[in-house]
Amino acid sequence: MSVSTNSGSKPRVPVEVEGMQVNFCKNPNCMNFGVPASTEKQPRGPGAQARGRDSYRVTSGSYSNNRQGAPAIICLKCKEAPPIKSNQGVYEEKTRISSYLKVAEPSCQNPNCSNFDIGVSESKGKYRRHSTTAAGSPRFLCLACKKTFSINVSKPAKNHLLPHKNSEVFSMLVNAVPMRRICKISGINQKTLYDKIRFIHRQTMAFVARRERRLLTGELPLDKLYLSVDRQDHMVNWTNRKDKRQTQFHALGTADNVSSYVFGIHLNYDPSLDPGMIGRDAREAGDHDVKAPFRRYARLWLQADYAPAIAEKAIMSEIRQDGGHLGLQHSINQTYKEALARTDVESFDLPAEYTRFPTKGMQVHAEYTLYGHFFFLRDMFKHVGKLRFFLDQESGIRAACLAAFQDRVVARECDAFYVSINKTMTNDQKQRAMREVRAQVDKLAREYPYDISDTSLRRMLIERAVQMKKPVGPWKDMWVDVLSRIKSEPEKKVCHLTDFNDYDDGHLAALMDKASLHGIDRFFAQIRNSLSLLSRAPSSASNTGRIWYQRNAYNPEIVAMLLDIYRVNYNYLEVGDDKKTPAMRLGLARSKVRLTDVLTFEA
Ligand SMILES: [Zn+2]
Ligand SMILES: [Zn+2]
Repeated sequence: MSVSTNSGSKPRVPVEVEGMQVNFCKNPNCMNFGVPASTEKQPRGPGAQARGRDSYRVTSGSYSNNRQGAPAIICLKCKEAPPIKSNQGVYEEKTRISSYLKVAEPSCQNPNCSNFDIGVSESKGKYRRHSTTAAGSPRFLCLACKKTFSINVSKPAKNHLLPHKNSEVFSMLVNAVPMRRICKISGINQKTLYDKIRFIHRQTMAFVARRERRLLTGELPLDKLYLSVDRQDHMVNWTNRKDKRQTQFHALGTADNVSSYVFGIHLNYDPSLDPGMIGRDAREAGDHDVKAPFRRYARLWLQADYAPAIAEKAIMSEIRQDGGHLGLQHSINQTYKEALARTDVESFDLPAEYTRFPTKGMQVHAEYTLYGHFFFLRDMFKHVGKLRFFLDQESGIRAACLAAFQDRVVARECDAFYVSINKTMTNDQKQRAMREVRAQVDKLAREYPYDISDTSLRRMLIERAVQMKKPVGPWKDMWVDVLSRIKSEPEKKVCHLTDFNDYDDGHLAALMDKASLHGIDRFFAQIRNSLSLLSRAPSSASNTGRIWYQRNAYNPEIVAMLLDIYRVNYNYLEVGDDKKTPAMRLGLARSKVRLTDVLTFEA
């Protein structure tokens, strides 16, 4: 790969890549929302404004807690200071996440050529029909590098090895059978099992790509989506048994709360890269001499990033305290406090001292996976009329969502809410909380001489709470106590992140009533119950990370593949009480899909 060095004239903020420029103010109420900071050096001094200076100041990161912060742009209009991000990194991560959707078509396979991997139908004037091969398939000439190639559309490779075992293995994988027992029951060795997982993964992704392309093209028109977004952590055991350490990965998922369809579950791990090769290339490109967002490989954890990050982690664990019993408001405040203490407010994936660099593939800085995920969703939801995002309270998720959907937020087609749920309640406490909700609703009902539905009563109460909302935290977010309607979310606070003051209180109360993370959290719970390798949630306590869990995965690539496979199983193969799969409810399937149709699917 040819890479220009970072020395010389560095842009003020990273330049736009493929139409992406994420370096702008993320405050929806600010005039600078969506207005990118200039990449050029700006005039200074008196009259600079008149000489066309933009309304940002760039800082290389201020000092606090004896550490230098990440480079940021400071919005001169609202004082918000979003950390600078590499558009190249966002683009690479979005491309990685979206790659399964690409239709396999011939393209120049010369990695040094500018037409590399650009399909023959995607571009005019890049290729010419050349001749035909002996077998009769057409041959193309690349006009850039003058090499020829033929159409050899790569169909998913057939797995000839014990094909009758594939459905058996699939069913055991998604039904909590441990890997070792799958081998025993099926009479296969571990290598064959891994080959089968690879095969099943290829098949499920080819299958789901065909369906989900209908969203990209707008063939399946959708009016509205109520989407929940959350993260799930997974520990991966280190492969070197002498040095039993673990790496913690984060998976970000988005689900439709109405149909339960899961649109993606993405791990911050790129299996295609060789750490040694990237490390050398990064050194040559001067990545260690420039600030993170200006690096060629800004997206990736390089070996040298680990030591300072581990030091930061130690500071973070001091700030973090177990305050679950102090209530939901305390936990919201605590989340803000932790975010502010980071050197980069959007970056949450600090390795603990016991975590390590993966041996194979590369760990992606988690906030780039967040950006990649939301830019992927942006394409997926291009033809959806209205979008309501219910987000876990995480600055990185907020920034990525507002960056990707900025124009649709301004067009008032997209709204985003933080949702915070008290997850520390016991079953008794949950029941008591639900009884209190009931009592409040009943009390209000008695104020009216005629019948009003529970939903309307609950919304009237939420409306009252909306009128009493007050700002909380460093960004003055307005949190509202929202009466819950489901036992799994007994105590809930919601904050409208895209508040333009243009919804009346009734409309806002109705939206807040719908605000919930249940769509994605139910999927996460199913993952823990159904995938033996991923059954254990990492503990947040600092010393338990050293415990070696026999069943944890050894290879993050397998983790990512199992998450993909399970998503397809969940969306297309498992019916709910209504005898429907999530895909049927959404409109991407007419009936429950048969497993054999997935395993024999031909693109
Ligand atoms: Zn601003
Ligand atoms: Zn070429």
